[in-house]
Amino acid sequence: MRKCDLCGFNEAVYTDHSKGVSVCADCLMKSVRRRAWQVLKGELIAGDKVMIAHSGGKDSSLALLLTKEFADAHPDMKLSLLSVTVDEGTFYRKASVKLAERLANELGVRHRTYTMEEIHGLSIEELDFRLPVNWKRSPCTYCGVLRRQALNAIAREIGATVVVTGHNLDDLVQTAAMNLSRGDINALVKTLRHERKMEEGLVPRVRPLKMVYEREVATLVVAKKIPAHLGKCPFTQGMRIGVRREIDDLEDRIPGTKVKALQTFSLISHGLSSDVQLRRCRVCGEPTTAEVCKACQFKKELSTFLHRDLVRPLNLEKVRKDRDLWD
Ligand SMILES: [Zn+2]
Ligand SMILES: [Zn+2]
Repeated sequence: MRKCDLCGFNEAVYTDHSKGVSVCADCLMKSVRRRAWQVLKGELIAGDKVMIAHSGGKDSSLALLLTKEFADAHPDMKLSLLSVTVDEGTFYRKASVKLAERLANELGVRHRTYTMEEIHGLSIEELDFRLPVNWKRSPCTYCGVLRRQALNAIAREIGATVVVTGHNLDDLVQTAAMNLSRGDINALVKTLRHERKMEEGLVPRVRPLKMVYEREVATLVVAKKIPAHLGKCPFTQGMRIGVRREIDDLEDRIPGTKVKALQTFSLISHGLSSDVQLRRCRVCGEPTTAEVCKACQFKKELSTFLHRDLVRPLNLEKVRKDRDLWD
């Protein structure tokens, strides 16, 4: 058994190759908590109504846990927390919705689940079933856009002032690299720049795990037995998989690459200005940079396969009734 290099007492469960240091679960938790709290301290404002986008997966579960600990440790900030799951209606999600409820209950955080079916009028399972073989887009592409829009609309209508997401360092470096390889400067700026203003119905986001490796998250969730779904979504497809592999390769050869890359991308994006103005979608009224938002464009495309008209404003009736949930 290798002992932890920091406390010299517990068994080491994680090795930071960039520093050549092996640590135990307790010391890893301390280090991850310090990084997450630094983000929360810098980006949350006293009195915030914080909605945690909680899928029940490992990242958002750890983000919820650390945000709850932060709120408890800073009572003067008077933060209200609410955990929200969007159920896309896949067999994969069923297990994680239960785990999301369980963790929220254990932590004493209120939890709500809304289904993609009630909000957008379709489930990803139905989509997977109806899409023609070899169709140009995978269910994953539709799901990503529809889920993101649903989460923002829920946050706004339920009265959240900020949304906490589980995006980790690996996710952000992958997204930034994809933006860069597409030459999409606006998306790069949007991904990395931190702005705390509600603009055209877009609720600001905070990512407490942005300086935490995915491997650290996975190690902690297992070692600390945090209720969370560890499986990968079976629908994950497309460019991200290749980009992830390349960046992981680079990190293996040059430990610390991901941290340096994110810091560099962030610095670059702060020096850039995005010339894209947010506005409201002509069809559904949700925030977008185009005249008609991507979700509406996708829903129009999908109406053919699902044999019904899906293009309409989101159904947020149930969400609006939950506005008084905040403590
Ligand atoms: Zn230790
Ligand atoms: Zn729209």
